[in-house]
Amino acid sequence: MSSHWDGIGFTSQRTRERLIQRLRTMGIHDGRVLEAMLNVPRHTFVDEALSSRAYEDTALPIGHNQTISQPYIVARMTEALLAGRALGRVLEVGSGSGYQTAILAALVEEVYSVERIEPLLKLARRRLQDLGYRNFRFKLSDGGWGWPEHGPYDGIIVTAAAAELPEALCEQLAPQARLVIPVAQGQQQQLQLITRGEDGYRREVLETVNFVPLVRDGY
Ligand code: SAH
Repeated sequence: MSSHWDGIGFTSQRTRERLIQRLRTMGIHDGRVLEAMLNVPRHTFVDEALSSRAYEDTALPIGHNQTISQPYIVARMTEALLAGRALGRVLEVGSGSGYQTAILAALVEEVYSVERIEPLLKLARRRLQDLGYRNFRFKLSDGGWGWPEHGPYDGIIVTAAAAELPEALCEQLAPQARLVIPVAQGQQQQLQLITRGEDGYRREVLETVNFVPLVRDGY
């Protein structure tokens, strides 16, 4: 099976289109987001043993007790971040497999992504390079601090659940920029959308979600 994944089988165009159809019925309407979800090959972001499941709408393990997010959640967060606009600089906290990074790289000018587990970061970087993206930078670090050197950002996306809203991230938002972040609420997690306004921040709750925790290394 060498020409394996193209044309036939689980990662074929038809399988991908079925996923996009599902995302539509679940309420994703932004055409640019749907197009990026169709074009970015999610099967290259998971272990080969799992690639037959890459276009199911489910989170999958990526090692180190971490997961690649469910496609619906990636689409939902990306759509909320963009809000139909063109964005310049975006910060991602929690690169993981690099899948969300690639979706962002397809849609915005520059992506800065921070990850605290080195082997994951190295793999993610290689995957984006192999796919031909050039508009991204990764850093090994505790993302709770953000990446202030490149801020302020037109959008920030956090792909692990924070115990509370990290102030440093709010401060790195440009005016009118949005932060999309899962925040723990008791036993549950809420996906929150924070918008930086003229005189403070506006908070909306989007939905209940289930992310791995945002680890606090020392902030
Ligand atoms: N966006 C990823 C999802 C990865 S899961 C994807 O599409 O695959 C969340 C990731 O956040 C994990 O890789 C985890 O190591 C990372 N993470 C958790 N706490 C972190 C922190 N404080 N700083 C940076 N990365 C963190």
